[in-house]
Amino acid sequence: MKGKVIGDILVLKNEPDNLQELLNLPEVKRIVKLGRINGVKREPDVEILVGDSTETIHRENHCFFKLDVAKIMWSKGNTTERQRIAKIVEDGEIVVDMFAGIGYFSIPMAVHSNPEKIYSIEINPVSYSYLNENIMLNKAEGIIEPILGDCREVAPKGIADRVLMGYIGNTHEFLDAAMEIVKPGGIIHYHESVPDLLKFKRPPQRIIDAAKGREVEILKKRIIKKYSPGVYHVVVDAKIN
Ligand code: SAM
Repeated sequence: MKGKVIGDILVLKNEPDNLQELLNLPEVKRIVKLGRINGVKREPDVEILVGDSTETIHRENHCFFKLDVAKIMWSKGNTTERQRIAKIVEDGEIVVDMFAGIGYFSIPMAVHSNPEKIYSIEINPVSYSYLNENIMLNKAEGIIEPILGDCREVAPKGIADRVLMGYIGNTHEFLDAAMEIVKPGGIIHYHESVPDLLKFKRPPQRIIDAAKGREVEILKKRIIKKYSPGVYHVVVDAKIN
């Protein structure tokens, strides 16, 4: 069985023969089958197999994430990165989360670290509305400021000690915007889906190119997960001086 439990919903890739047995799994009260994930807004196709609704609250690393599994994606493969990012922030930092979603990174940062402010930008109104609910559920109202819109247009400029680029697809097209958001000495966490042979070469090179002469110090390169055959989701931490 290929699947994951999100809140009290078991999300499967294929319809199983033993549907009723799966309801005995701990926490599982509903079951859905997940199809393709579509478009820049990452909206999944979902068929309900058991239950009559698809909204749930998922708990991870002492954080609450309310989401509708029929409308919003949840990547189990990103758990370690969410944990790493939660504690990476230094006291008093200003953070800009360019692709905030429902608060995947912003919420753990607000719960486990002590930033002054996190600007969390999200383009999809459905995700944005869950982001707002999750800010309240995790009592992060004083720290996270949610902003609805395209991060290239609405992000505050020149103020960030740390910029999160937790999106894969054409992330490099957003590096120019990230360079405007980060302040001198700030750090960019740049995500990319990249073929195996290029996995630690292309992402740092793209950051260096986008920096247009500003000094770039590559602090870390790590694989988050296998994305598809021969393709990895990697993250590079880069300090922009
Ligand atoms: N890293 C997350 C995780 O741990 O599962 C997944 C992030 S999610 C795939 C990326 C989010 O970026 C989506 O909610 C999408 O709507 C949003 N997004 C895409 N383009 C955007 C843009 N130009 N400005 C702001 N948000 C954008």
